[in-house]
Parts: sequence; structure tokens; C-alpha cells
Amino acid sequence: SAAQIPALAEPSPPTDLHAAAVRTLSLAHDLSDAIDRGQLDLYYQPIVRLVDGSLAGFEALVRWRHPQLGVVRPDEFIPLAEKTGLVHRIGQWVLKRATTDWPLLRQRCAATSQGAPFISVNLSAPELCNPGIVESIRDCIASSHIAASELRIELTETVIISSVELVSSAIAQLRTMGVGIALDDFGTGYAGLDYLQTLPFTAIKIDRAFVAQMHDSERSFQIIKSALELSRLLGIATVAEGIEDAKTGAMLASMGCNYGQGYHYARPLPLQDLLGAGTPT
Ligand code: C2E
Ligand code: MG
Ligand code: MG
Ligand code: MG
Repeated sequence: SAAQIPALAEPSPPTDLHAAAVRTLSLAHDLSDAIDRGQLDLYYQPIVRLVDGSLAGFEALVRWRHPQLGVVRPDEFIPLAEKTGLVHRIGQWVLKRATTDWPLLRQRCAATSQGAPFISVNLSAPELCNPGIVESIRDCIASSHIAASELRIELTETVIISSVELVSSAIAQLRTMGVGIALDDFGTGYAGLDYLQTLPFTAIKIDRAFVAQMHDSERSFQIIKSALELSRLLGIATVAEGIEDAKTGAMLASMGCNYGQGYHYARPLPLQDLLGAGTPT
């Protein structure tokens, strides 16, 4: 039996590597049926206006409820889905679901003079490079009877670098339709500032790595300050990610950051939890 195998059979680093490889292989295998088996779910994280804490919108974040492994986060399975090509079906599912849910979620948002409510959806590089993507976004908007301006697509710098020519035409078409485009995880990638000049972003999202360090690191603080100043000059809205305490939210508000998102306000939640009684935050 297993108890009789000597402990020195495998040293611990290879065991970890082996376990990780086995997990990756089984996730890649199981993912192909995840949609058909109804294992994907879409969570929504509130985004607030920092000036008054009112609910401005939500970011849709995909989850996979694996029958044996529990909830698997997108950072783990989206890269796998990109390799197998399954990311297109997952992305279609996410877009459809988010635009269908939005009329319900919109009712939870506060209507204020500082911008209309919005729903944000993440797209990865292969998704945005898919020639049918603009058309399918248009279809989702039309069939759910929402305004294109209520939808915001979040792209990381990696997406942009992967194929500037391909993505810039998709981005331009989406902007023409009225869809918002946010530069996600700003500051962590390798995109130069020239992308802010050439691509029509409507928002930038300051990565939580900077937000988490802003009280302890003068550099992080200055980077955030310059990002906010730059966006203000360019007329681009700013969202700070990963706000985990009141102090950070208050400081970002005083620095003129428009929107905030993070565990201090709310975690990503299933639709049902957000539609319950009371305010979601
Ligand atoms: P992201 O777009 O930068 O999303 C923000 C991530 O930060 C989310 O992780 C969210 O749960 C987490 N977060 C929010 N507030 C806090 C906080 O206060 N503290 C900390 N420590 N974390 C916070 P999540 O949901 O695991 O998603 C990870 C990444 O996966 C996302 O990063 C996005 O790039 C990608 N992703 C998520 N959903 C989708 C999707 O539907 N399609 C695609 N292509 N990518 C997705
Ligand atoms: Mg995002
Ligand atoms: Mg982000
Ligand atoms: Mg991220």
C-alpha cells in the first residue's frame, strides 16, 4: 500500500512540479466540457465613484466551478483556454451572459451627473484578434437591448502588444459603435505611452500592485499620481483596482481618481447576491 513507500521516493520540489503538471493537464481536459455542463459562472464586482461612494458599474469576472477541484480562477484557466482555442467560446458565453444580466444590474447603480452606469468585460488577445468579435459584440448589444455606451471592454497591455494592427482596427470599430475601452492593469505591462496616443481608450485601470503599495512606497505613490495627471490631461477616466481599505480609497479620491474597485467596497459576487434586498456595497 501507499504507506509502505519510503518518504524519500520523490523530493518535494519535483512533487510540486508534478502535481502542478497533473492539475494543468486535467484542467485542460475538463475545460472542454465546462460550458456544456453549466460549470462556468459570471461574478460581478462593484465599481464605485470615489467622490461619493455611489455604485457606478460592475466588472464581470468569470469563474469555473470544477466538480472535484472547486472554484478555479480565470488567471489559471484562461491561459489554458487561449492555448486550446476554447477561449472564444468562453468569451462568447461571458459576453452573452454579461449583456443579458446588465439590465438587472443597471437597476442597482446610482444615476448621478458623473457618468452613466457601465458593465465591464475582459477580453484576452486571441479573443480580440478573432475577426468575428466586433460583430458578435454588436449582436449581444442588440439582442439584450442595451446601449453600446453601457458596455466597456477591458484590455491588458499584453493584448495590445500581441498584435497592434489587428486589435487597433477592432478597437476603432468598437469605439465607433460607442463601446468604452479600458486599458487594464495599467503600469504592469510593457506598452509604451504611445498606445495612449494612438488607441482611443476611454478609461485606464491602475493596477492593484501600485494601489497596494501607495502608502509604503513613495515610488508607487508618484506613479499613481502621474497616471492620474496624465489621464486628466488626456480626458481619460481612471479606475483604481484593489482598494482594500478606507484610507486608500480616501487618498485616491483626494488625488482625483474617478472610480474605485476592491475588497473594501465589495468582492466579486454572483448575480443573485447583487439582486437581493438592500444596497450591494
Ligand atoms: P483583472 O481584470 O485585473 O481583474 C481584477 C482581479 O482582481 C480579479 O481577479 C478580482 O477578483 C481581483 N480583485 C478585485 N479587488 C481586489 C482586492 O481588493 N484585492 C485583491 N487582492 N484582488 C482584488 P480574478 O477574478 O481572479 O480575475 C483575474 C484576471 O482574469 C482578471 O484580472 C482578468 O484579466 C482575467 N479575467 C477575468 N474574467 C475574465 C473573462 O471573462 N475573460 C477573460 N479573457 N479574462 C478574464
Ligand atoms: Mg479587468
Ligand atoms: Mg486589472
Ligand atoms: Mg489583472
